[in-house]
Amino acid sequence: MEAAENCSVKVAVHIRPLIGDERTQGCKESVTVTSGKPQVQIGTHSFTFDHVYGNGGSPSSSMFEECVAPLVDGLFQGYNATVLAYGQTGSGKTYTMGTAMKDGCQTGLIPQVMNALFKKIETLKHQTEFQLHVSFIEILKEEVRDLLDSEPVSKSVTPNGNAVKVTVPGRPPIQIRESSNGVITLAGSTEVAVTTLQEMATCLEQGSISRATGSTNMNNQSSRSHAIFTITLEQMCKIQSVSSGNDTLDNDMGEEYLCAKLHLVDLAGSERAKRTGSDGLRLKEGIYINRGLLALGNVISALGDEKKRKEGVHVPYRDSKLTRLLQDSLGGNSKTVMIACISPADINAEESLNTLKYANRARNIQNKPVVNRDLISNEMQKMRQQLQYLQAQLCARGGPTSDMQILKERISWLEATNEDLRRELHEYRSRRAVVECCESDAQEGHSCFMKSDGHKRGFQSMDSSDYQMDEAVSDESPEEIDEVAKELEHALRRNTMDRELIELNKRLEQKESEMKLVGGADAEALKQHFRKKIMELEDEKRIVQIERDHLLVAVENRAAHSDGQVQKTQEMNVQKLKALEAQISDLKKKQENQVELLKQKQRSDEAAKRLQAEIQYIKAQKVQLQHKIKQEAEQFRQWKASREKELLQLRKEGRRNEYERHKLEALNQRQKMVLQRKTEEAAMATKRLKELLEARKSSTRDNSVNHNGHAPNGQSNEKSVRRWLDQELEVMVNVREVRFEYEKQTQVQTALTEELTLLKQVDELSSNGDIPHIVNNGQSRLLSMSPNARMERIASLEHMLSMSSNVLKAMASQLSEAEERERGLVGRGRWNQVRSINDAKNLLQHLFNATAEARCQLQEKDLEIKDLKQQLKDLTALLWQSEAQKKELVKEQKMREQAVAIALATSASAAHPIGA
Ligand code: ADP
Ligand code: MG
Repeated sequence: MEAAENCSVKVAVHIRPLIGDERTQGCKESVTVTSGKPQVQIGTHSFTFDHVYGNGGSPSSSMFEECVAPLVDGLFQGYNATVLAYGQTGSGKTYTMGTAMKDGCQTGLIPQVMNALFKKIETLKHQTEFQLHVSFIEILKEEVRDLLDSEPVSKSVTPNGNAVKVTVPGRPPIQIRESSNGVITLAGSTEVAVTTLQEMATCLEQGSISRATGSTNMNNQSSRSHAIFTITLEQMCKIQSVSSGNDTLDNDMGEEYLCAKLHLVDLAGSERAKRTGSDGLRLKEGIYINRGLLALGNVISALGDEKKRKEGVHVPYRDSKLTRLLQDSLGGNSKTVMIACISPADINAEESLNTLKYANRARNIQNKPVVNRDLISNEMQKMRQQLQYLQAQLCARGGPTSDMQILKERISWLEATNEDLRRELHEYRSRRAVVECCESDAQEGHSCFMKSDGHKRGFQSMDSSDYQMDEAVSDESPEEIDEVAKELEHALRRNTMDRELIELNKRLEQKESEMKLVGGADAEALKQHFRKKIMELEDEKRIVQIERDHLLVAVENRAAHSDGQVQKTQEMNVQKLKALEAQISDLKKKQENQVELLKQKQRSDEAAKRLQAEIQYIKAQKVQLQHKIKQEAEQFRQWKASREKELLQLRKEGRRNEYERHKLEALNQRQKMVLQRKTEEAAMATKRLKELLEARKSSTRDNSVNHNGHAPNGQSNEKSVRRWLDQELEVMVNVREVRFEYEKQTQVQTALTEELTLLKQVDELSSNGDIPHIVNNGQSRLLSMSPNARMERIASLEHMLSMSSNVLKAMASQLSEAEERERGLVGRGRWNQVRSINDAKNLLQHLFNATAEARCQLQEKDLEIKDLKQQLKDLTALLWQSEAQKKELVKEQKMREQAVAIALATSASAAHPIGA
């Protein structure tokens, strides 16, 4: 290892601008930056850092160049490096690091690191070989989660609602290991080898997504988790000292191997750890405290305090996974930059101050970065040797590879053969199926339609939907049986026609072959030939006859002239003649033969003609049949389409009926409720009236008793007269109320009765069979009701009527009683009880007061009513509006449905062109 150079942790502060929420809450900025200096002030506190970005400091865009680019360069020299983002939740850590990179957003540090890395590799790749690996982990509740693990870790939930990780079997949990030389590694985390910028960006993105999903699953815990994105750069510089002609592995002996890691850390929100720090953990803190952050604070505190350092205080790296992983970054072998993120808002001032204190302490931490070189190079060398040795051994055996090769070839050959055989089998199977089908066809004849399926010729042209239809309707109503019958009939007809067609085709073929036998084209040539032959024969015959005649003449002449010698010649001539005669007869026979042949020829010609005609006829028949089949198919299609349309219509109607029924039911229910309420109110009013009247009766009796006895004293008399008046008034009001209710109830009753009679009429008419066509709008609803709904409605109406009539009766009896009483009072005089002018004055005063109060109340009620009316108006307007909107929407939907139906119809007709 190289000698360590001391190098303190660099600290930069990143102040983000005020964000949406803070602005809307009217927050003020509480952080100021001293211009021209990397100095930050909060209240009376002032801190100096290596850099300050944002909010009056340097622009954030220069952060990468100033803070992180040197670390990337160091990576190529073999130095480990770490970038830490620290700060409270929402202070911009993730934003600064770019850990949540999405679709090439380049603002964060990590994307910029990746760009710089690959740019540099590009310039160096001709002299150096590079290998890059990335890992992305998250530490949550002291558990290390692999964010690049493509196998999802299933989570289960414990009874107390906490999500618990269930490690996938066969995958050991990620563990932190420390090797003998003190290097910390993660055992079991995914290390993805990357070669391009795109691949690396994908890793970052994928990990961010895993982190985000995890956090939503567990109720946003990203502010409690630490995310660490690690890039491992291995490089092999070729120091080409050996001649390049020699191509063996020894060539690489002069290489220099370097390996360095860059950790990019997005820490958990620091606000959870605010009670920790230099004064340690305050116990009994109710909320969960992130152990990692707490330990980090303690580590920073131990390392950052010069006094403590000098005293050799123990650094508690082992208190948490986070600090163990960052052991090298803080006080170890790494160049480290910490970026303290703070919000400028005044509400966050306390947290920001804490962050700055932490960061300030971290500035004092000293690291000792070294170039990671020798050890690994040695190891490499050893491994190479081992590799060589193993390769040599492998070569020496030779066997396995060639054996493998042979076996592989054999397997592929076997696979191919297998494939062939399978294909053959398939072929045979299908052939067998055809043969079987033909056999059963022959056995069962036409009747087999009903039973057998797909392979019947009659059905072959029908698509699967037809079958479905068949099955669906198999046990249904007569209409549907009709339908099935019709379909079967169609299939049957289609089948017979197809058979006919095939028969015709067969006959046609036969005739055509017959025709060929007769020999259409050659016939003419043959005829010509025979005619010529006959002609020749005729000529020959004529010549021979002429010769004969000559000879005959000569014989006669000789007979007349000569004797002995003549006799001789004569005999010769006779012989000659005979021979000629034989020749002639021979020729005649030949001629006859020829004629016979000619006749035969003619006959066969005639037969051919006949056949031709027949063929023509069959062809015509065939065309006709095809035409018929087409027509039949078209008719069937039309019939089917119309059926389908009908069915749709029926379904729609069914739905409408159902809807109507529901509506009616709701109406019944509603009306019943209203009526019940009204009836109850009326009953209450009636009851009160009854009670009042009864009370009056008895009090009148009391009063008269009083008068007949001793006169009561003035005070109590005055009171009782007032009470009497109040009661009289109450009775009056009550009577009015009951009367009002009574009238309303009567109206309801009338309406109910009207509807009932109408419904009953309709019921009667429809049971007689004629549906009335009279009626206005309101009644049309009643008429369009289904019989069941009508019955229901009638029953409900009758029930309501009986209820209402009961109440009416009760009210009527009370009202009449009140009237009776009123009449009595008029007769006897209401004011009998008022004896003195004083009484009268008192009473008048009381009346005046009561009237004034009543008027005031009336006034108030009027106002209230006005308000309510206005409200009602508004609501009605709203209702209209929404009704209109609904109508619009319904219209739209209907249109859309129509469009879909049309599209379906066209596609259906395109899918089933009518086959001839
Ligand atoms: P943290 O990771 O610290 O919880 P985030 O990075 O998620 O915080 O930032 C919180 C919010 O503030 C985000 O909406 C982010 O876009 C915004 N934000 C953070 N830093 C900046 C900045 N420098 N400029 C603009 N917006 C920022
Ligand atoms: Mg964050």
